[in-house]
Amino acid sequence: NAETAMYHAKEQGRSNFQFYTEQMNASSLQRLLLEGVLRRALERNEFLLYYQPQISLESGKIIGMEALLRWQHPEKGLMAPAQFIPILEETGLIVPVGEWVLRAAATQIKQWQAMEFPRLRVAVNLSALQFRQPGLSQIIATILDEVGLNYASGCLEVELTESLIMKDVEGTIATLKSLHEMGVQISIDDFGTGYSSLSYLKRFPIDTLKIDQSFVRDLSTSPDDASIVTAIIALGHSLKLKVIAEGVETKEQLAFLQASKCDDVQGYLFSKPLPAAEITRLLQEGKLLYIKEA
Ligand code: C2E
Ligand code: MG
Ligand code: MG
Ligand code: MG
Repeated sequence: NAETAMYHAKEQGRSNFQFYTEQMNASSLQRLLLEGVLRRALERNEFLLYYQPQISLESGKIIGMEALLRWQHPEKGLMAPAQFIPILEETGLIVPVGEWVLRAAATQIKQWQAMEFPRLRVAVNLSALQFRQPGLSQIIATILDEVGLNYASGCLEVELTESLIMKDVEGTIATLKSLHEMGVQISIDDFGTGYSSLSYLKRFPIDTLKIDQSFVRDLSTSPDDASIVTAIIALGHSLKLKVIAEGVETKEQLAFLQASKCDDVQGYLFSKPLPAAEITRLLQEGKLLYIKEA
């Protein structure tokens, strides 16, 4: 299974990311060639989205999904974001690919709404270059209108990293406000790894803090990480934000998060990221509901 293979590749260390590491030292000619390859990948529709469920700890039900980009390379097979997103960012191709991601996610939300899953929310990752585009909220609104998705209900969420939003704070506030007024939910990804100013955090129209998986990983063995997780949950709740933990892999981690009143969880314990069709099948079979007793 490609997803598992990628997971193991990550576990084994960075040397496995040959595609990316080779390109890190690539000449400008090589970079130009790669840009062409990625541009054609977009034209040939080789990108696809996987979806990973997010579960509410209160209800035990799936409340949404995170959309995660994959590249079905004709020879190399399924590629994870770490292998190609840095190049998309370097070349600026992340902007059109990011628009493709939004269109694909919106189309999928609409399909789930037309089935028996009208309340699922889908989170999409935005990169810095995309977020700083002038008129971003209008661009997003146009894409969603073209798809015919009613997004005022909050079915679309965007995930932004801390370091991204802390640059040009005034610009960030303006963009976040217009997105939020449209009904787009805002989530801060990898929270705790950047340098958030807490006073700014209060000024942003944010809905969710997403605890980075690096703190979740050693929750059971590292008292420091456990303290950080507890502190982020308390901070989030005192700012009236929802808190979700990513990278939840074990029952021990889940038990800690339940006891700490974390709102939602996402991780391999519940499901790996899967193609939309597989997610739909699991939803229809009711197999993605988790059992409350951890
Ligand atoms: P992220 O947004 O923090 O996404 C979470 C990553 O953790 C995903 O990796 C997911 O597959 C992985 N993950 C989920 N559950 C577990 C778990 O229990 N254990 C472990 N060890 N990992 C888990 P993935 O799919 O390889 O994506 C990596 C990063 O690439 C994402 O991190 C995000 O920053 C970026 N990315 C993915 N899709 C997009 C996209 O459409 N646009 C942009 N701009 N960035 C994207
Ligand atoms: Mg994310
Ligand atoms: Mg994350
Ligand atoms: Mg992360």
